[in-house]
Amino acid sequence: MDLPARQRSLREHNLAVVMRLVARNAPLSRAAIAAQSGLTRATVSAIVDELIAGGLVTEVSPPPPNGAGRPATGVVLSGATPAGLGMEINVDYLAVCVLDLAGNVRHRAHLTADQRGRTPSQTWSGLGALARAAHKAAVAQGLSIAGATVALPGLVSEQTVRIAPNLGWTETPIPAHIDGVPLSGGNEANLAALGELHALPGSEPSSFVYVSGEIGIGAGLVVNGQLFTGTQGWAGELGHVTVDPAGPDCTCGSRGCLEQYAGEDAIRSLSGLPSADLPRAAAEGSPPVLAALAQAGTALGVALSSAVNLLDLPCVVLGSHLAPLAPWLSPAIEHELQQRVLTSRWSTLEVRPSALGADAAIIGAARTVTSAIITSPAPYLASR
Ligand SMILES: [Zn+2]
Repeated sequence: MDLPARQRSLREHNLAVVMRLVARNAPLSRAAIAAQSGLTRATVSAIVDELIAGGLVTEVSPPPPNGAGRPATGVVLSGATPAGLGMEINVDYLAVCVLDLAGNVRHRAHLTADQRGRTPSQTWSGLGALARAAHKAAVAQGLSIAGATVALPGLVSEQTVRIAPNLGWTETPIPAHIDGVPLSGGNEANLAALGELHALPGSEPSSFVYVSGEIGIGAGLVVNGQLFTGTQGWAGELGHVTVDPAGPDCTCGSRGCLEQYAGEDAIRSLSGLPSADLPRAAAEGSPPVLAALAQAGTALGVALSSAVNLLDLPCVVLGSHLAPLAPWLSPAIEHELQQRVLTSRWSTLEVRPSALGADAAIIGAARTVTSAIITSPAPYLASR
């Protein structure tokens, strides 16, 4: 459409207003959208028609009427085109998912494979194969992949992995495309925290620290419904908070970091059972595993109490490998928080497992693609 700049930006603004309303409160009738947005009925109808033509929203039949008059159809986010591709490279697995605009996972794959000892290009090509299969599965369901985001266990900036200690990557570029789709990268814990934020019921702004990781440990900080990323996007390196200055050497070059006590390998090595299935051994009451989990829980509690004292967060979410271990970790974490958080006398701190478990990072990564379309639909519509 060839419109003067002011008219164009007004149209873009109205598209975004209607999209966000539908994303938050669907199904909404056109009349309800007009009432809630303050736009005229005619403007809302034109905008909704444009969003329907672009495949972003669709109209559904109303529930049976309970009063007089013709019931209005409801506008909802489309379960057809477009979709986001979320991916994860972690130390011992690769994973992908396809998420539609309405937030449904439409395809998911997980490949257990140790990435240590592989070159970055071998890892990217493994991920590329998963992306190709996901893309194919999406197209077969009538979806089109609008973009891709990959979650990485390290510091990411300017399309580069600055350092991922447990992968052995430094200054590793992230490809601009994967299987022909534009690709961006982000920190695994931050993306998992975003996934968790969207999975929470209700529209109350939430605040929590999401503890993530597999071999390593990271954290995503959500404050009043917003991800807190620090000045360079690098906040949340909880795994390298010192628990004991005289503790064991860490892959980062420091000593006594949290991940040397609470990383998956660390818990196994503390238990003296290097190949233990930790949740199963804990459920069976294995004394060395229970002792290692108590030690990991204490270390987590010590590190987390510093985070809570600094940031005033009411909730700790245990993600990835920590989620199934929550029943055995939580008592020690809660004990340390009780002892060390100054405000614990006046407020209760919740410690709970993640709602999304191991899929939080891939879902959060795919969300960055779908959220960008919901927040600002005009560029997507123009690109079609
Ligand atoms: Zn460290």
